[in-house]
Amino acid sequence: LEFTPLAKLTGSINLGQGFPNWAPPEFVQKAASESALGKDYSTYARSAGHMNLVNEICYQYSQTLKRDLTPENVLVTVGATQGLYLSIQAFVEEGDEVIVIEPAFDIYYGALEMVKAKIIPIPLKSAAHIQSSKDLQLDWEAIKSKLNKKTKAIIINTPQNPCGKCISKAEIQQLATLLEPYPDCIVISDEVYEHLIFEHQEHTALASVGSLYDRCLSVYSAGKTFSVTGWKIGWVVGPKILMQKLQYLQQWMVFSVGTPLQEAVARALKSARQAFEKFDDYYAWFRDFYSHKRSLLFQGLKELGFNPILPQSGFFILSDIKGIEFEAPVMDKIIQWDKTGELSLDYNTLELKDYQLARYLCLEYGVVTIPMSSFHLNKNNKQAQQWIRFAFCKEDQSIEEALNKLKGFNK
Ligand code: PMP
Repeated sequence: LEFTPLAKLTGSINLGQGFPNWAPPEFVQKAASESALGKDYSTYARSAGHMNLVNEICYQYSQTLKRDLTPENVLVTVGATQGLYLSIQAFVEEGDEVIVIEPAFDIYYGALEMVKAKIIPIPLKSAAHIQSSKDLQLDWEAIKSKLNKKTKAIIINTPQNPCGKCISKAEIQQLATLLEPYPDCIVISDEVYEHLIFEHQEHTALASVGSLYDRCLSVYSAGKTFSVTGWKIGWVVGPKILMQKLQYLQQWMVFSVGTPLQEAVARALKSARQAFEKFDDYYAWFRDFYSHKRSLLFQGLKELGFNPILPQSGFFILSDIKGIEFEAPVMDKIIQWDKTGELSLDYNTLELKDYQLARYLCLEYGVVTIPMSSFHLNKNNKQAQQWIRFAFCKEDQSIEEALNKLKGFNK
């Protein structure tokens, strides 16, 4: 609410919000333009999802989750955001406890606050010197100590935003074991970055491990995979008994999601399995494409003294700002923009180091980043203030320009 408008108002390069700033691949564009024509897809879609897309999802995720999925196991949503929202609305009630691994995508907090859930944040455990997102670990002792009969859900995000942590199969197995005594606790697994994994690692879907499927709602999105964040097409996959509730809510909430874009995503999913640009399929090309951007931003930030942490996955890089000194930003303009409603300033963040640095980099250097305390329930969290987040889902030219603008900072 503050930094995206701020990027526009100051004409800064936006390495803040995670949206690719290029046109989607041609096969995706073609799928959309063809689906928008004529009368075939111009009427309401089936409430739980347009069948062509649902069938594609069943086909693809039967492999990912190692299950035979049928349409009863699928719901198409307005982006992953609505999938997460519905999962929470359907199962979490006032006072229920929900475990969130911090730092966490901020939408979880909002959706949980709307149902008046009791949010139980559990920070990732970090090694003394963090060089890679591998140095961030799930804190098993803390998870075990917080799980109880009132725990209604645990939200897991892998590959994770903002740290780029990718949870291994062994870790998922451990989670499954810890949850065994709590049959009423569901798992909401946000896997929107499923295809963004580097260095030949594999993404393991939580629901593909042990008995987790029976309690798991797996949430996905076309936005990241096909560089179409504005399309807002997502889907949830899970066992029939859980999905029925989501499908019921969807019917009374938006009834159905736009048909042409559902058809377009169905076609894109089918095409993505074909060879693409000398790669075996689109996903292999996609990983290679992002791998280059990751190196470009990582190397650049390293040279500039921003202490970047190498992400295993996702499209964000954290920078450790502990040792970085800077002047407090001059807030006049931002306060003025808040007054005129052009952005929304949270006055509780004025003194936070990471917010101050993010504002300073924007106002003085023309580069927008995101402060890490915004990914925490308690923004005063001292540890959280040690980081800012840079996004590399940007054209090389934007990344290079941003690095150029930041030259001279921290010297
Ligand atoms: N989950 C995570 C972890 C995300 O980073 C995002 C987008 N930033 C979403 C969900 C939302 O996805 P969508 O745009 O499909 O609603």
